[in-house]
This record gives sequence, structure tokens and C-alpha cells, in this order.
Amino acid sequence: MIRDAKDFTSLGNIPFAPAYEHTLVSVNSGFRTEKPVCDREKCNGCFLCYLYCPDGVISKDGEKVVIDYDYCKGCGICQKICRKNAIVMEKER
Ligand code: SF4
Ligand code: SF4
Repeated sequence: MIRDAKDFTSLGNIPFAPAYEHTLVSVNSGFRTEKPVCDREKCNGCFLCYLYCPDGVISKDGEKVVIDYDYCKGCGICQKICRKNAIVMEKER
């Protein structure tokens, strides 16, 4: 629960997931052509990607992020928003 919707200065005020339900209703069955991969060494835990992911598939793992590939649609917004260039889009095989 957000105590103050405008106050994101503390991690405690950031909601568990900005999108409360996945947009995809079933596990991604292969339409994604690229997937975001996070370099955890470059990631500084700012959680911008977590806030901007339209599908709520990025979650917090301590001070880092993890991506749920079952529901990620590969839109690349997380990669665009990352100021540390910690996310790269890799081609699906
Ligand atoms: S936006 Fe980049 S630096 Fe920030 S949490 Fe996401 S991957 Fe890490
Ligand atoms: S590629 Fe799109 S859906 Fe997948 S984690 Fe990034 S912002 Fe979310």
C-alpha cells in the first residue's frame, strides 16, 4: 500500500508491483522476438524499470530486479528507461 502516492523517495513507499496484474493472461507462448536481460553488476537498484514496466513483470530482489520471462512481452521500455544501461535486449532463439 502506498502511504503517499507522490513520495517515491523511500523504497518502503514503492508499491509491491506498479501493475497489479499481468497484462498477458497466459504464459508468453513465443511471440516475443527479444527479451530484456539485466546486468546485475551495472544495476544500481533505482527501480525505474520496475516502475515503468507496463506489465508488472519486474519485481524487486533485494536491491536488484528480476524479470518474469513467462509474462514479459519484450516491449523494451525497461531498457529505454534504464540510465545505467544495465538492461540489454537480446534476440530470442
Ligand atoms: S532501471 Fe536499470 S539501474 Fe535501475 S533498477 Fe532497472 S536495471 Fe537497475
Ligand atoms: S520488455 Fe517490457 S514487458 Fe518486458 S520487462 Fe521490460 S518493460 Fe516489462
